[in-house]
Amino acid sequence: MPTETTSMTPSTVTMDWITRLISIDTTSRDSNLPLIEVIVEQIRTLGVAPVLVRNADGTKANLLATFPAADGSTRGGIVLSGHTDVVPVDGQDWSSDPFTPEVRDGRLYGRGACDMKSFVGVVMAQLPQVAAVPLREPVHLAMSYDEEVGCTGAVSLVDEIVRRDLRPRACLVGEPTSMRVIRAHKSIDLIRVAFHGVAVHSSLTPQGVNAIEYAAVFVRFVRSVADEFRLDGPFDEHYDVPFSTATVNQIAGGIAVNTVPAECVLSLEFRSVGDVDVDATVERFRAEARRVEAAMQQENPAARVDVQIVASAPGLDTPEGAEVVELVTGWGATPTPEKVAYGTEAGLFDRAGIPTVVCGPGAIAQAHSPDEFVTLEQIARCERLVEELIAHLGA
Ligand SMILES: [Zn+2]
Repeated sequence: MPTETTSMTPSTVTMDWITRLISIDTTSRDSNLPLIEVIVEQIRTLGVAPVLVRNADGTKANLLATFPAADGSTRGGIVLSGHTDVVPVDGQDWSSDPFTPEVRDGRLYGRGACDMKSFVGVVMAQLPQVAAVPLREPVHLAMSYDEEVGCTGAVSLVDEIVRRDLRPRACLVGEPTSMRVIRAHKSIDLIRVAFHGVAVHSSLTPQGVNAIEYAAVFVRFVRSVADEFRLDGPFDEHYDVPFSTATVNQIAGGIAVNTVPAECVLSLEFRSVGDVDVDATVERFRAEARRVEAAMQQENPAARVDVQIVASAPGLDTPEGAEVVELVTGWGATPTPEKVAYGTEAGLFDRAGIPTVVCGPGAIAQAHSPDEFVTLEQIARCERLVEELIAHLGA
C-alpha cells in the first residue's frame, strides 16, 4: 500500500517530460513522428534500440522497446502501454493555449494532459531507473498512434509483440481511470453502410431506387437489435449501461427535394458487453444489408449496398482474480468492481493472450474536453505506481 508520508507532488523530471510531450501537437489527423523521435532519442541514450512499426504511408509510427532482464532475457515481463495521439481542439473554448501546458491550482492543463500524455510522461521520466536497475524480468514499452480514431494503430503494434514472441505476463494500459484498476470494458465496432440506389426526377419516382428509404429500413433494424439487447440482455451490472448498445449516429443522403436520392450513407456504432458474440452480431448487420440490397435490386439490378467495418476494437474482460489485477493493485492502484463503457487498446492486448488492465492518472470526464486537465496528485500517484513496479521487478 502507498505510504501516507510520500509527497503527493510529482517530481520535476516527470513534469518536464509531460510538458514536453503536450507541447508536441499530435492530433490524430497529423503525424506523431515528432513525438516518437523524442521518445526514441531518450531510449537510445539508455542503450536500448526501439523498434518502429510504421503505417502504410510512413507518416506515423508505433514504438516498441524492450528493456531486458539482467540475464539478457526479453521474454515475459510487463508491458507499459499508451497512445501518442490526442483528439482535436477544433471549436473548443480553452482558457489557455492547449499546447502550452500550464499549472493552475494543483492541476496541469493542456490537450492530452489527461488522455494520456501524463502516463507516457511518467513512464519516460522513470526509464533511466528501469535501465539502471538489474531487472528480474523485462519491461516493454508499447506506444501507439491513432488510438483516438478507433484503436487502429495498435493492431500492428500488438502483432509485433506476438511476432517477436515476447509473451509478456501482464500489460498495463495507462488510459485515465483516476488510478483505479479497470479490468473490463466493452468492445466497439464502427460500421459504415452505403446505400447506392438510382436517381431520377421525382416526377418519375417509380423509375428510381430511393437510397434514403432503404437506409431507413436498415436504421429500424439496428434499433430493433438494440432493443433486443436492452430487453433480453445479456446483462452485466458492473457497467453503467448494463447491456450492449447499437445506434446509428450519422446519416447523409439526397441532393434535392425533387430528385429521388441515389446515395445514402450511415454510420452505426455497436458496443458490446463480454457475453455477446461480437462477430455474430456484426454478421447480423451484414445480413440485413444484403437483404436490403436484394430488395433494392428487385427494383433495379444496378442498386447495391456496401458495408465497411471502419474500426473494430475488441472488448476487455480480464477475470477478477487475474495476476495482473493483483500486481497493479499491489503497486498502489485502487481496486474497483466497476467496468467502463469507453474502449481502449487493452482489448487488443487481451485478444493476443496478454493479461491486461487499464489504469492511469486523470479522470475520463476530463478527456477530450476543453480545458482538459490532470491533477498533480494523480500524476504523483502514477509516478509512485511505476516506482513500485520497478522495485517489484528489481533483482
Ligand atoms: Zn486515450
